[in-house]
Amino acid sequence: MLKSHEKYYSEFGKRQVLVVDDEVINREMLGFMLASDYVVLYAEDGEDALQKIRENSHTLSLVLLDLMMPKLDGFQLMEILRTDPELEHIPYIVLTSERSAEVASLRSGASDFIAKPFEQPEVILARIQRTIELAEDKDIIQNTERDPLTSLFNREFFYRYVEQYDMHHPAKKMDAVALNINHFHLLNELYGWDYGDHVLSAIGNKVRELMAENGGIAGRMDADSFLLYYPSGADYDSIRDMLGRGLLEGKATNSNKVKVRIGIYPNVDRDVKIERRFDRAKQAADTIRSSYTKFVAYYDNSLREKELMEESLIESLDTAVAERQFRIFYQPKYDITGEKPVLCSAEALVRWNHPEFGMVSPGVFIPLFEDKGLIQKVDRFVWEEAAAQICAWREKFGITLPVSVNVSRIDVYAPDFVSNFKNLMTKYQLKPQDYYLEITESAYTEDSEQLLAVVGQLREEGFSVEMDDFGSGYSSLNMISTLPIDALKLDMNFIRNMHRKESKNNRIIELMIDIARYLEVPVVAEGVETQDQVDLLRSMGCHVVQGYYFSKPVSAEEFEGFIKELLE
Ligand code: C2E
Ligand code: CA
Ligand code: CA
Repeated sequence: MLKSHEKYYSEFGKRQVLVVDDEVINREMLGFMLASDYVVLYAEDGEDALQKIRENSHTLSLVLLDLMMPKLDGFQLMEILRTDPELEHIPYIVLTSERSAEVASLRSGASDFIAKPFEQPEVILARIQRTIELAEDKDIIQNTERDPLTSLFNREFFYRYVEQYDMHHPAKKMDAVALNINHFHLLNELYGWDYGDHVLSAIGNKVRELMAENGGIAGRMDADSFLLYYPSGADYDSIRDMLGRGLLEGKATNSNKVKVRIGIYPNVDRDVKIERRFDRAKQAADTIRSSYTKFVAYYDNSLREKELMEESLIESLDTAVAERQFRIFYQPKYDITGEKPVLCSAEALVRWNHPEFGMVSPGVFIPLFEDKGLIQKVDRFVWEEAAAQICAWREKFGITLPVSVNVSRIDVYAPDFVSNFKNLMTKYQLKPQDYYLEITESAYTEDSEQLLAVVGQLREEGFSVEMDDFGSGYSSLNMISTLPIDALKLDMNFIRNMHRKESKNNRIIELMIDIARYLEVPVVAEGVETQDQVDLLRSMGCHVVQGYYFSKPVSAEEFEGFIKELLE
């Protein structure tokens, strides 16, 4: 951010001013007045002026502009200055001898006017100085409003400008539009950050062209996420096409298009809060996040219903915790290294028995609460229930069956994250060795620093940490080899695609098991449904298996059957 006006000085330590007048005498007089305070450039006609303005667009502080000139006249030039995004920041003062032209000049965007013939140099100088200062202040303000990479509004100011736009255009039909780049992180990884930045700024330019042509407001929220407030009725397929075109030219890929994905909440309801309108556009865009064929999606009734349902889930969360509507189910894990599979632990999986919606799947409410930063409320409940359950089973059966709980990536930011687990161990007289934590692989790749620190502390305390959904994230081999981890849990999709015959997928599973061997940690396979899969996994060297083959997640009471079996 700019703190001073430094950037406005030319290399001579003075601000640069262009005097445009076809009469020598006027140029000389102004030049004489300005020479000691400014670096003065001169132009004799409109075309000459435009060329000099373009050449010096980054250093020029002001243009003094005659109206009657050959080639391009002053009004034509003003029109260009006012509408060209590269030039619109340069202020201009009109030089005129006709009073009648003053109003027209101001309407054309002139900051001020100076009457000819020139009198009172000190008044003229004061006007010039004031105009330059005003323009610079405005520029400084704009610099804090805009994202430096794309010059689009940043998150803060985008919403404010949308609000203003609404005020000035109360009846205009507008769309809220969310724009993302598919697999942007891959683009960064493949071609480097500089290239990623290049793509973003190219898209920024194209977006600004769109706005210049059709009106509307554009902002960049973060990374590859852009928002537009755009007049309704546009053809978004061709806009998408235009935005993505030509960006990968010269890159080794079979397409020269960056895949842009667009979500639209069309013809917004002005009663809906502004940020909510764009949430709707983002929701629409999210529905095609992993599609390879669909790139434009609209917010519709089904999304509206989903939104309503989500709202009421959020509203009923506290009651649900208080009334214990959340129930913990347990799914057994079996050690398959010996001849007969042996029950070795269980995973705690939460269920919500909602008074209105019935059984709600964690696949619905977990991502929702993660998104809204509410997941801790659920997880803390589950963690305590699981600890209490280990304790209860120990009292009832005389054995300690370890249980693993799931940890969301946001959980690790709580300052008492580690001490909370320690307290649970004390409260239920458990050893940390009997309490496992499952953390998904993508958490490690997304915000590794905090996570690694916390996982380190947990392991020092004696807890076991399993990497969940291994293979679904983007860990590099390099990263994995340095990870503090006690077990790898293969992503279910690999198991689903297992074949009896040799296949690429099988080799990947073998590779992951090799990695685990290298790290000297056991491998857990989940989502195992058939005898064939168990046999294959055993032959590959997998240690622990979890899945419908043995059992679905069941209630604590039902789970006791597995413990009794173990004790027989
Ligand atoms: P996950 O941790 O990967 O859990 C495994 C999911 O696979 C569970 O789904 C489980 O019921 C299911 N599953 C187990 N065996 C099989 C099988 O053989 N075939 C198939 N098709 N599926 C199987 P569930 O219970 O619906 O949980 C979904 C996800 O929700 C979990 O995935 C986990 O990420 C999250 N989750 C569940 N409980 C909690 C919790 O208490 N806290 C947090 N943060 N997340 C949770
Ligand atoms: Ca899990
Ligand atoms: Ca998993």
